[in-house]
Amino acid sequence: MKQYEDRSRQVPAIYRRRIGSVLVNIISDGELTAAPDMFSAGAEQFNKIAQDGFLQPGPFKMGTAVYVLETVDGTYLVDAGSGPLFGETSGLLKENLAAIGISLADIDGVLLTHMHADHVGGLLDESGATFPNAELIVHRDEFDYYMGDLVLARSNDRNRPWIMRARTLPEHYAHIRLFDGIGEVFPGISAFPLPGHTPGHSGYLLQSGDEQLFIAGDLVYSQLYSFRLLDENFLFDVDRDLATQTRRNTLEMLADKRWLMTASHLAFPALGHVARAGDAFEWVPETWQFQL
Ligand SMILES: [Zn+2]
Repeated sequence: MKQYEDRSRQVPAIYRRRIGSVLVNIISDGELTAAPDMFSAGAEQFNKIAQDGFLQPGPFKMGTAVYVLETVDGTYLVDAGSGPLFGETSGLLKENLAAIGISLADIDGVLLTHMHADHVGGLLDESGATFPNAELIVHRDEFDYYMGDLVLARSNDRNRPWIMRARTLPEHYAHIRLFDGIGEVFPGISAFPLPGHTPGHSGYLLQSGDEQLFIAGDLVYSQLYSFRLLDENFLFDVDRDLATQTRRNTLEMLADKRWLMTASHLAFPALGHVARAGDAFEWVPETWQFQL
């Protein structure tokens, strides 16, 4: 075992997928750990599902995917990962961007699915804005919620520092664009509000040629759990009933349209399709594809 000690750390994790004329780079920000009791069904049911999926019961590891969309118009990031907030197993975005030769200054815009710490933590580093030339794009309801009083009233000792940090983003990013509903934010990229997980939680639909990719943020967070137990929630869902309704409606839409989709916390590279399974759904991962 000793001879592997220096090189067992994971190598940069990037998966490239062309969607029409857009190159999508799916980048792993690393891994977070969630306790089974963070799922509303409770630890017992969660552990049973974990065992069915050949996972150890107990703390649940979930990856965080971040996306770089290289289009003819610009280079856009979708979310920014955890940055320094959650220890050495996450916040790998910068290292992974360097591995594919994309500099921090190359990023023209960051489209935010929502403002939880594991999605905006990487927007700030010791120098201030991690992406000095980027415009931030976020749903107005999300921005207003994070800048208002309610988010603090609902906070606890654990998440209050993350919220306070997110509230400093306007000091570091001069250009913040707010959108209200479904609509194109960059050519070929449309915002798609998915409220519930947070007030302005949004997906993004990328369309190029006759191909689509639906980027779903935290609509679903576990390939074992979220597609099967539709009425169950994650404790971080701000409005659980709305999150449940949005999840069911959107999974139905994705199953009907047969669009390729991705969501931040599904198993890397978090790319696949939604199939119907009885009254619920099933995650069908796309197999690794060679691409020149
Ligand atoms: Zn998340």
